[in-house]
Amino acid sequence: MNIPNIKEARKRSDKEVSYIYLNQEYDNSAFKNKKYFLRTYGCQMNVHDSEEIASRLESLGFVPGNSIEDSDVVILNTCAIRENAHDKLFGFLGRCKHEKEKNNPDLIIAICGCMAQEEGVVNNLLKNHPYVDIVFGTHNIYQLQELILNRNKKQQIEVFSCEGNVYENISYKRESSIKAWVNIQYGCDKFCTYCIVPYTRGKQRSRKSNEIINEVKQLKKDGYKEVTLLGQNVNAYGKDIDGELSFAGLLEEVSKTGIERIRFVTSHPWDFTDEMIEVIAKYSNIMPYIHLPLQSGSTNVLKQMGRRYTQEEYLELYKKIKDKIPNCAITTDIIVGFPNESDDDFNETLKVVNECKFDGAYTFIYSPREGTPAAKMDDSISLEVKEKRLQELNSLINNYSLESNKKYLGREVPVLLEGISEKDSSKLFGYTDTFKLVNVSGLKDNIGKIVNVKITDAKSFSLDGEIQ
Ligand code: SF4
Repeated sequence: MNIPNIKEARKRSDKEVSYIYLNQEYDNSAFKNKKYFLRTYGCQMNVHDSEEIASRLESLGFVPGNSIEDSDVVILNTCAIRENAHDKLFGFLGRCKHEKEKNNPDLIIAICGCMAQEEGVVNNLLKNHPYVDIVFGTHNIYQLQELILNRNKKQQIEVFSCEGNVYENISYKRESSIKAWVNIQYGCDKFCTYCIVPYTRGKQRSRKSNEIINEVKQLKKDGYKEVTLLGQNVNAYGKDIDGELSFAGLLEEVSKTGIERIRFVTSHPWDFTDEMIEVIAKYSNIMPYIHLPLQSGSTNVLKQMGRRYTQEEYLELYKKIKDKIPNCAITTDIIVGFPNESDDDFNETLKVVNECKFDGAYTFIYSPREGTPAAKMDDSISLEVKEKRLQELNSLINNYSLESNKKYLGREVPVLLEGISEKDSSKLFGYTDTFKLVNVSGLKDNIGKIVNVKITDAKSFSLDGEIQ
């Protein structure tokens, strides 16, 4: 049993990262046609981890189920970022417990993801939720099959609180056959004062560039049209490996594979180089879209957050990107109500939004994460004030999203069609190169193709169009 330990998770040493080539084979008759139900919360990293988890379950013979009630194993891949994460976890567990007690005593219940890395959560599961069979951490996904095969009456907790390794030769059950996530880096060393990720995902570890490029080449061969290079701070790619490519160098090599569309998330402004901007501007298969988290427009608050840039530096970077890549869409993340954020601080955020006129933004009210430095800060700002600020910010952001979308009216733009719209089954949906969601009428045969679409209507969060 390995229980998480936040002190260990905080450590950063000079110890070299191990690159481990997995060679795991399992008997897929072990759970032949038994069903699994996998629910995922949180960021793209978790979504991609779930693609690995699904593949691992299927290697044992499991097939996808539709609900807790019709499944033999349920796995909840948790997120520690959102405020209501604990409620979601324990609400979900309540349903699982009911099912196991009333109908299916053999149901295997497993918890993983960032919340599984939290000491407090795991101690609570041990003490109060004995019906949970398996808890495995973000560093322990490779052990999943063993944990299921060797389960016994006792709870199995396998959560390493370590800096982490890099595993290669992982197979994924990808959600899409059109676009794919490609991990380029794991963990983070930035330690922004509000963020739990450096504790839940370990230190920054880049994958070797040849592995990444080979993966992209294979995806291209398999017919994928788009890859998104994935990391907590992709701009810092390669800094942890002597002689490795920089992120700009990696982007250039990935571009040369000829895959049709390349995206990347997430960027930290502090590590964003001029070389990166040059490369994005130069290659037409690197999409003109950047998610550039601002977090706050106030230099004072940015300092408290440990973000390592000032308002002026963010604006300078923003301007450089727009000067070199005028059609580049830029979205952002903003936290409202960081401890002691004054009216003046908040007005600085509004000022930056008014200058940047972002294409879109994910906005949140600050909520403390246990174990982070910001969680220990006193806070004099009431929730009511924070909620008002969030409303004001959202209405400004929505105006600018609409303004930016309206610029597309009447234009013809390339759209990669990905599937049938969830809201209207007579429509297909896809994305422009600038990551604008577009709904169009058209035949299903167009799914997976990049088509020219004339934009006929613009809303705050999507566009409507007609295939040309
Ligand atoms: S860079 Fe991102 S992932 Fe890393 S600590 Fe800061 S907010 Fe968290």
